[in-house]
Amino acid sequence: MADDSDLLGHVEALLAIDEYRDHPLYPVLEQLYRHHQGQQKRLERLLSIADGYQQFSRDEMLETQQQYARQLQRERKLSRISDRYQELMRDNNRELHTASTHDPLTGLANRRMLADRLKLAGQRSRREGLAFSVAMLDVDHFKHINDRHGHEVGDRILVEMASLMGQTLRAGDLCGRWGGEEFLLLLNDCTLDQAQALVERLFSRLRQLRVTAGDTQVTVTVSAGIAQFRPTENEQDTVNRADRALLAAKRGGRDRYRLAE
Ligand code: GH3
Ligand code: MG
Ligand code: MG
Repeated sequence: MADDSDLLGHVEALLAIDEYRDHPLYPVLEQLYRHHQGQQKRLERLLSIADGYQQFSRDEMLETQQQYARQLQRERKLSRISDRYQELMRDNNRELHTASTHDPLTGLANRRMLADRLKLAGQRSRREGLAFSVAMLDVDHFKHINDRHGHEVGDRILVEMASLMGQTLRAGDLCGRWGGEEFLLLLNDCTLDQAQALVERLFSRLRQLRVTAGDTQVTVTVSAGIAQFRPTENEQDTVNRADRALLAAKRGGRDRYRLAE
C-alpha cells in the first residue's frame, strides 16, 4: 500500500503539471488514475462491510452464547426444583405408608400391618412347614387405671409397654397394637412351647414396669391367649383361638395366660 500511495502521489503530481496536458498519454493516465480511485473506494467500502459483518457475527454469536447459558441456567434450576419435588413426594409417600401401617401413639405396627404380616406368616408356614404362633395380650382393668390416674397416664403405660415388648421380642417377631389396650404378637418360627416361654418372660418384665403418676407408681398386669398356627386353618382362625384363650385367662382371674384349644 505504501508503494501504491507513492505511485499515486507521483501520478497526481504529473497530472498537475500543465505542460503535460497536451501529451497523448495524459487523458489515458488521468482515466487510469480515476478508475484506480474508484476501485480504491469500492475496496474500502467492501472492507468496511466485511468488518461490519464480522462484528455482527461476533455480536450474534455472543448473544447466542448468552441465550444458551441462560437456557442452561433455567434448565438446571428446573431440574433442581424437580429433584426437590421428587424428594418431597418420596418423603410424603414414606410418611403416608408409615402412617397407614403404624399406630401413632406407640409407633407399633397397626392392625392393618398385622393382618398383612399374619397372611405372609401363614403362607410361609404352609410352604416351609415352619411353626408360627400368635399371642393376644390385653391389659387388665385398664378402664380402672384410666379412671383412677387419667387418660394421659393410660397412654404412657401403653407407650412403655410397647417399648418393653419391642425389647423382649426376637428379631423377626412382630408386636402390633390390635386395638385399644390389646397387643398381638406374631412369633415366627415358634412353637406353642416356645411362645409360652416368651410370654412368661414378657409377663415378668411387664410386672416390673412402673409408670409415675403424681406421687404414685402405677403397675399393670396383663392377660394373654396363645395359639400355634395350624396349616389346615386360616390365620384369622388362629387369632380367634388366641382370643378365646385370652377370654379364658380373664375369666380365670387375669394376670395369666392360657394356651388355645
Ligand atoms: P379387662 O381386664 O376385662 O380387660 O378390663 P379393661 O378395663 O381393661 O377392659 P375394657 O374393655 O372394659 O376397657 C378398656 C379400656 O381401655 C377402655 C378405654 O378407654 C381404654 N383405652 C383404649 N384405648 C386407649 C388409649 O389409647 N389410651 C388410653 N389411655 N386408654 C385407652
Ligand atoms: Mg380389651
Ligand atoms: Mg383390658
